[in-house]
Amino acid sequence: MELEQEDFQTLTQISTALWADATRAHTQAAETLAAVSLMDLTPSRSMERWARALLDRARTLRESPIDAASLNDPVYRLLPHERLILAALHLGHWSYGRLERVTNLPREELERSAWSARVHVARQRLASEGRGLQVPAAALGASRGSCPAMDPTRPWTQRFLDEETETRDRLFLQNHLMSCPICVRALQQTRDIYFTADRALQTAVSGPLRQAELSEFAEELELAWHRMRKLRESRFPILPGLLRVLAKRDVILVLAVAAAAAAYHALF
Ligand SMILES: [Zn+2]
Repeated sequence: MELEQEDFQTLTQISTALWADATRAHTQAAETLAAVSLMDLTPSRSMERWARALLDRARTLRESPIDAASLNDPVYRLLPHERLILAALHLGHWSYGRLERVTNLPREELERSAWSARVHVARQRLASEGRGLQVPAAALGASRGSCPAMDPTRPWTQRFLDEETETRDRLFLQNHLMSCPICVRALQQTRDIYFTADRALQTAVSGPLRQAELSEFAEELELAWHRMRKLRESRFPILPGLLRVLAKRDVILVLAVAAAAAAYHALF
């Protein structure tokens, strides 16, 4: 299976979540794409490697110059891996399994990061609207015995909304929710946090003003990807080797060579 158009959109959104400056986000996405396209990976693993490379860069490269507007945005105040997790979950609907591979975090840590990031972003967003945030509470008293255990750092309600609950547990929860108002309330409170964080992320990463720009960047990346992959399977055996050497030195040059070679292929 090849990468789809929406994969490139997700990667564009992830890089925009990592770099508030759109041009910088695009450059980072294009440079890491050039390197990853030369690796011998399945398309799905390429996506993960690409996201991983973006995260590594976001952690090591400082944002410069610092954009005052983005500093006021709660999304851009999160740590890079938290931003990647939120963007991938909300905008790309990636699974926990995939995010474990990308971030190298064990499952429980991943859930904690996602939850604290969501609560942080939702709290700021609601505060700006003059509202307070209610954290889902564990069931106490009479219902406690039959209620699912609630870890406040990674509540089951989050796994439920992320569709990461195993089928058997999901059936149990669905049945339990029909008869337990306490857990229904906890789920409702989690849903509020989830959708408030979702709104904040949409505004920060793919607000209406940036939509056209994002689509254009995603299309450019998709084109570059297919050129690079085609070149990798080129009937001129020297080209992939040459590109691999170049990739270590200058990724922009690789993209230029790839574009030129693709144009050559198209003409002859
Ligand atoms: Zn309950």
